[in-house]
Amino acid sequence: MARTDSSKSLRRRRKVKILATLGPASSNKETITALLRAGADAFRVNMSHGDHETHSRTIGLIREVEKELNRPVAVLCDLQGPKLRVGKFKDGAAFIRHGAHFTLDRNPEPGDETRVELPHPELFGILQKGQRLLVDDGKLRLVVIRAEADSLLCTAEVGGPISDRKGVNVPDTLVPVPALTEKDRRDLAFAIKHEADWIGLSFVQRPEDVAEARRLMGGHGALMAKIEKPSAVETLDEIIELSDGIMVARGDLGVELNPEEVPPLQKRIIESVRLAGKPVVVATQMLESMIERPTPTRAEVSDVANAVYDGADAVMLSAETAAGAWPVEAVTIMDRIAAQVEADRTYRERIHIAETPPDATMADALAESCASIANTLPIEAIICFTLSGISARRVARERPSAPMLVLTPSLKSARRVALLWGAQAVSTKDIGSFEEMIAKGKRMALRHGFGTAGSRLVILAGVPFGVPGSTNLLHVVTLSGDELTRHEKK
Ligand code: PGA
Ligand code: MN
Repeated sequence: MARTDSSKSLRRRRKVKILATLGPASSNKETITALLRAGADAFRVNMSHGDHETHSRTIGLIREVEKELNRPVAVLCDLQGPKLRVGKFKDGAAFIRHGAHFTLDRNPEPGDETRVELPHPELFGILQKGQRLLVDDGKLRLVVIRAEADSLLCTAEVGGPISDRKGVNVPDTLVPVPALTEKDRRDLAFAIKHEADWIGLSFVQRPEDVAEARRLMGGHGALMAKIEKPSAVETLDEIIELSDGIMVARGDLGVELNPEEVPPLQKRIIESVRLAGKPVVVATQMLESMIERPTPTRAEVSDVANAVYDGADAVMLSAETAAGAWPVEAVTIMDRIAAQVEADRTYRERIHIAETPPDATMADALAESCASIANTLPIEAIICFTLSGISARRVARERPSAPMLVLTPSLKSARRVALLWGAQAVSTKDIGSFEEMIAKGKRMALRHGFGTAGSRLVILAGVPFGVPGSTNLLHVVTLSGDELTRHEKK
């Protein structure tokens, strides 16, 4: 397997991508550079924390480093969504005993061990007797025993400490809230203004939420729906259909469902999203212990490895890179785990457990042929000329054995490739002729570490050039020694 220094070559030694969340521990130029060098392919800016000024600075730094390292990077602005929280307490905190009664009401007075405000009027009249409220990532479990117009009397099935503004999950009901809160709308406007490549949509409950967000996005950026509500799981296929990508948001999903339901769901979601040919990200607690320590637990290493074996497009780091003490180490370890898995003899067999039969389209017929040629001949790389990036996504859907180098005149398309399995992109001037295409394909392969003298490449393109959706050409070429010399002289 070609192993190249990621700081010089575009080529990575793995096909799965790494999405790293930026935050106080990493939103500086030095760390962003180090994270990219260590293997981060895309960055998440979490709108649940921080302010616009900080996020604007962070995105500016990403773009600076992107230019310096000459590697297109995707920015995901992750909207907070309708996250529910309790109000405040007299002393900032209180302790709810196991089995005690506790009331959630609409009284903004500071709370105590018997009650607190629940500042979400839409929950009253919706939550019913027997339904659960899970507080602080599920650490506390309150069950409604009497629901009234402005109060919910609960029993603390599981008690414990509670404090100001702790998060609340209500897995047993569909919350009648719009997909985007007022804050989300402001954050979305910010994300559009800063040309975010992806918009993350949290707490999606129904397909209409995705449609609504799409309407508000007005053609800007790609939409990543986060699957973290049981109701979203119920309409998964429609949500996938309406989204450009999906995140398996295991943090909240594992609170809203029993945690043991998450692993099979992870596999099911990945399979469905891969069938649709869209990128799928596995997120949360992947290397959680590395927030504090420079080495992960064995279980965490296995978790990352298994997501790679599942054929996910990307694995995500959250607090590990946003707030932890070892952000660069976390990316380094993730990169190592992925490389090890992908070198395993059984890896290809395992990722192909998910079947992705081609649609009856020219793009899919050629994508499947690319993969089949790469599996039959020793092909060093697939060179994909694309405007919109669609043909690259269809090739990635086949999970070919050879890496893909995407050449596109659109910087936007190039950046989106950053979350696509097995692909690296270069944004480059458009080509005008067949000869130019071959020459450029070979030159770019050499320059970016996708071949040397004697390497065979599959080139995928569309004629007429520059017309989107025209993919109709597949050509196999061999890099000659001449080209290598010419390239090295330059
Ligand atoms: P979050 O989303 O980090 O924004 O909560 C991911 C998850 O819930 O897993
Ligand atoms: Mn979440």
